[in-house]
Amino acid sequence: MTETPAEDLKPTFRGDVSVELVKHSASDTDVLFAARVSTVGEQSLDELSKDPARSKGLINYLMRDRHGSPFEHNSMTFLISAPIFVFREFMRHRVGWSYNEESGRYRELEPVFYVPDADRKLVQEGRPGKYVFVEGTQAQQELTARCMEDSYRQAYEAYQEMLAAGVAREVARAVLPVGLFSSMYATCNARSLMHFLGLRTQHEMAKVPSFPQREIEMVGERMEAEWAQLMPLTYAAFNANGRVAP
Ligand SMILES: Cc1cc2nc3c(=O)[nH]c(=O)nc-3n(C[C@H](O)[C@H](O)[C@H](O)COP(=O)(O)OP(=O)(O)OC[C@H]3O[C@@H](n4cnc5c(N)ncnc54)[C@H](O)[C@@H]3O)c2cc1C
Repeated sequence: MTETPAEDLKPTFRGDVSVELVKHSASDTDVLFAARVSTVGEQSLDELSKDPARSKGLINYLMRDRHGSPFEHNSMTFLISAPIFVFREFMRHRVGWSYNEESGRYRELEPVFYVPDADRKLVQEGRPGKYVFVEGTQAQQELTARCMEDSYRQAYEAYQEMLAAGVAREVARAVLPVGLFSSMYATCNARSLMHFLGLRTQHEMAKVPSFPQREIEMVGERMEAEWAQLMPLTYAAFNANGRVAP
């Protein structure tokens, strides 16, 4: 067994998330081809590029009237690195999503932990169901960073101590907090992504406002930016119709 160098075991702290589009087969023409099979059958592929204005209109009509299934004939796979508490929220999205996450049983977990960046609003004001987040004071920011970092260091030391004593990874990991970073592949289609974005992002064009935790919203914003480039007509129709998944 090779030993991990000591410097690799020192906790590192980060306040961002990462999202990489690793694989995709997704375009507006996938939507058109699926929708037009209803009316022109197998010739639908030939019809796709004939009339761009009509194509745009058809996508908008499907979105507006919530004909959702034509938006399912595409696929996007994202590699996401984020804290475990984000993945707990993420995996509540059951329909039209496939997940594979790194294992804490088969490999030693790396000491990368979440500490909010300075622009993450720290203080919640207002009553449940009607609240806003505001900036913290510098003292609150420093306290948050110090408490988190101390706690993460202590937890990771305990994890290492147990591993060194021969305790199994799957048992020792119980001491690690939900601020630990994990990574996963998440595969979806445009319809399931729209449902996710409607709930997990805030946007001025949203007909139904949502109040997601900022950290999952950061993941959503990055996925949205990738998807908008792949399917610009579908993306525009999603926004124009109040960001409600069809
Ligand atoms: C701001 C916010 C706060 C939240 N707070 C909490 C919380 O405090 N506690 C908590 O437990 N969760 C919470 N959640 C999670 C939330 O309840 C949902 O589990 C999550 O948003 C996934 O939504 P979904 O079920 O619509 O998605 P999916 O699981 O992807 O389902 C998509 C759609 O399929 C249909 N569907 C799926 N499964 C079923 C089913 N079994 N029966 C009937 N129809 C089905 C529904 O139409 C559903 O909208 C919160 C979510 C948000 C956005």
